[in-house]
Amino acid sequence: MNAPVLVINCGSSSIKYALVPSAPDQPRLAGLAERLGSGGDARLKGIDSRGESFSQALGEADHTRALEAILDRLERHRPVAVGHRIVHGGERFTRAALIDDDVVAAIEQTSALAPLHNPANLEGVAATRRLFPDLPQVAVFDTAFHQTLPARAYRYALPEALYRDHAIRRYGFHGTSHAYVSRRADALSGLEGGGWLTAHLGNGCSTCAVWQGRSLDTSMGLTPLEGVAMGTRSGDVDPGLHAHLSRQLGWSLERIDEVLNRNSGLLGLSGLTNDMRELEAAESQGHPGAALTLEVFCYRIAKSLAALSCALPRLDGLVFTGGIGENSAPVRERVIALLPHFGLQLNRTVNSETVRGREGRIDAGGRQLWVIPTDEEGQIANETRQRLQEISA
Ligand code: ADP
Repeated sequence: MNAPVLVINCGSSSIKYALVPSAPDQPRLAGLAERLGSGGDARLKGIDSRGESFSQALGEADHTRALEAILDRLERHRPVAVGHRIVHGGERFTRAALIDDDVVAAIEQTSALAPLHNPANLEGVAATRRLFPDLPQVAVFDTAFHQTLPARAYRYALPEALYRDHAIRRYGFHGTSHAYVSRRADALSGLEGGGWLTAHLGNGCSTCAVWQGRSLDTSMGLTPLEGVAMGTRSGDVDPGLHAHLSRQLGWSLERIDEVLNRNSGLLGLSGLTNDMRELEAAESQGHPGAALTLEVFCYRIAKSLAALSCALPRLDGLVFTGGIGENSAPVRERVIALLPHFGLQLNRTVNSETVRGREGRIDAGGRQLWVIPTDEEGQIANETRQRLQEISA
């Protein structure tokens, strides 16, 4: 299938889109509609077919109106299918699925596990199905790549009934990104089916152990809050913290949730910002909070990678991706320095030159070290194409 796939990532008040052509060298039309359904100042920004950026006021737009505006922006380019990013596929979805009423109902049933994300994703599905009734639509799940985790990695040490009756287990997220960069590392290294530790470090951060193209363990769990520290999310805390904050400080569950998800991580620790560029600048000016924040952030990533190495029969190398992983040479250098027993040798010159979305091998021997820009839209488009080809075969 050679024609483009429209990739939609629909949040509660925003829609990210990309029209992904089949040939990697062709340009992508892409953009973001923001402030939808918030009464008056919705806006669509993006890149048009001449490669120029645009910004268009949408007034009081909802998701359907924004999708109509996106359709106009595609000009003469017509997609042959739509691929939707869906955050949570529970245990039901182990791979991408052609969307029909049954699949929509199953995603709805999974919404209890991702109450902020799945309903918003489904709003995009409903609006897109109305606007493109004749186009095949495919759901691509953040969780599906991690459905290969063995039980020892996905079960919590909790009463069995919580798993059996309420699906409480570790699911993992960022699956499209870990899948993309580990496959790319296989291709670039010539090690088909290598053992990789991947670190997706963006606003959300997670790590993953991939062996022969399969995820064997990952840092995120039931929700995207577990694991390493992130922009505003705490990552792992003592599970006793919730009871302590409730009993000692009288905090409500909503407040605890809000603090752990939105006021913690880089932002909470530093008291400054969740933006890594600003933190690195503040550290270089001697800000002690910024220095501690960077230390904690990198230490937790290294600790997580060391823990995940237990999942791999053999470790071939590490892959960094995401806005921080692709751009911050200092973060990569610190994480690598914290893993002396892994036999890693960093090429500091190449590391410092590998920024701004460039692929690069940054080791100087020993196990391989890669920086690989993630391409979640490309991965969603590929999985959409693959699913449709299998169905039509
Ligand atoms: P999201 O997870 O929302 O997709 P990104 O993957 O774009 O986010 O990552 C955002 C993070 O990347 C921010 O912390 C930002 O500061 C960081 N980042 C972007 N560019 C750089 C840079 N040149 N140096 C250090 N950090 C960077």
